[in-house]
Amino acid sequence: MTMERRNFLKLLGAGAGVATLGLAGCATTNKAGARKVVVIGGGYGGTIAAKYLRMQDPSIEVTLIERNDHYVSCPFSNLYIGGLMPDLSSLTIKYDQLAANHGIKVVQAEVTGIDAKAHIVKTSAGDFPYEKCVVSPGIEFRTNEIKGYDDQIMPHAWKAGPQTVLLRKQLEAMKPGGTVVLSIPLAPYRCPPGPYERISMIAMYLKQNKPGSKIIVLDANPDIVSKKGLFLKGWKKHYQGIIDYRPAKKVTEVDNKNMTVLIEGIEEVKGDVINIIPPQKAGAIAHIAGLVGADGKWCPVRSFDFESRNHPDIHVIGDSSIAGAMPKSGYSANSEAKVCATNIVAMMNGRKMTEMSAINTCYSYLSAKEAVSVTGVYRVNASSQAIEAVPGSVGVSADLSETEAMYAESWIKNILVEMST
Ligand SMILES: Cc1cc2nc3c(=O)[nH]c(=O)nc-3n(C[C@H](O)[C@H](O)[C@H](O)COP(=O)(O)OP(=O)(O)OC[C@H]3O[C@@H](n4cnc5c(N)ncnc54)[C@H](O)[C@@H]3O)c2cc1C
Repeated sequence: MTMERRNFLKLLGAGAGVATLGLAGCATTNKAGARKVVVIGGGYGGTIAAKYLRMQDPSIEVTLIERNDHYVSCPFSNLYIGGLMPDLSSLTIKYDQLAANHGIKVVQAEVTGIDAKAHIVKTSAGDFPYEKCVVSPGIEFRTNEIKGYDDQIMPHAWKAGPQTVLLRKQLEAMKPGGTVVLSIPLAPYRCPPGPYERISMIAMYLKQNKPGSKIIVLDANPDIVSKKGLFLKGWKKHYQGIIDYRPAKKVTEVDNKNMTVLIEGIEEVKGDVINIIPPQKAGAIAHIAGLVGADGKWCPVRSFDFESRNHPDIHVIGDSSIAGAMPKSGYSANSEAKVCATNIVAMMNGRKMTEMSAINTCYSYLSAKEAVSVTGVYRVNASSQAIEAVPGSVGVSADLSETEAMYAESWIKNILVEMST
């Protein structure tokens, strides 16, 4: 009996839903890639997947491929835009400690393709064979849906870094009494409460620094997508007359010269600073590698180990994946990475896979000192195989509070240390 056949039989004994769906994972292994896992993307999902793979089985060679030599966290970047942080240094991590502490090979390169059949990741620094591949490339923008869009004039600041700095500079340069326009795409997008936190932080900045200014919010969604009651309460308490929230307003075109946006090609709105958050899709490499599903946007995965529905031995986690009821958040990506790594190690060692159980908490600041949160626990429904929220587990904080802000600050410090060491 070959090793692969023995592993196959062990998986069959692993308990109903997991076992029967676990078979594709041990289908193919090329020799060059044996016991090698290549992780694409050094953000919230990729760093944790690489680390947990090595922690759970040091005999596996793990290569983490990331285009940049550092990573800037989107979580808390809204606070920088609101003027609560002098720069982005406290939100920036490097990879040297993570690599040294866990023996992860970190390669700074652009991933240009994945040969799923040959089990090879293609990059600007050469080819990397794998037994398993984890893909966590975040998001790309569907800018083709906004005619004329130019992120140097109307920044999105939805990938933290130079875009975030540009938006803050534009706010600082705006004259008092000016108008900020912020547009929100239809869900699903990265971080459901993120735009509403940003509105709060911009409103706070305007109140303190630009008297007489306002922010017009053009939300493509029919209503506030997350923590509605708490956001409305906070806006009433702190930003009366500053926030003009308009639901069901989808921006489809921009005029960069006249600093105007067009809603459904008809209604015009003018701004001094315009923050367009475009509609989104899985990271570009997920499209190139054929991991995207029928919707042409996101990657369907098997729910308990995040293996791609399109290609065996490639696992997609984080924002790019369709993870059922789990929101596209850094916390989710972190949870998914742990479940995915645990089950990859199990598969590579012919052990039983673990049932998926994941957590998400998203904090949002409403003012300099107060925050709110939403929390949920997620499991795989045994009959539908979909990731669902455990009934009764999803809830929001009771009120805006300084305690929630303390929790939030502790969360960001901890998770960035977890990702970088
Ligand atoms: C303003 C804002 C606030 C947010 N606040 C929160 C919050 O409070 N809490 C929370 O949980 N989440 C929050 N989020 C969401 C969170 O940032 C994302 O959900 C999270 O980053 C997703 O992780 P990921 O691993 O999928 O992608 P990312 O963290 O974006 O990582 C992707 C990495 O892949 C790399 N990459 C992509 N393609 C390639 C390639 N071809 N070659 C090499 N490298 C590549 C990128 O450079 C990047 O480093 C927020 C987001 C925004 C925009």
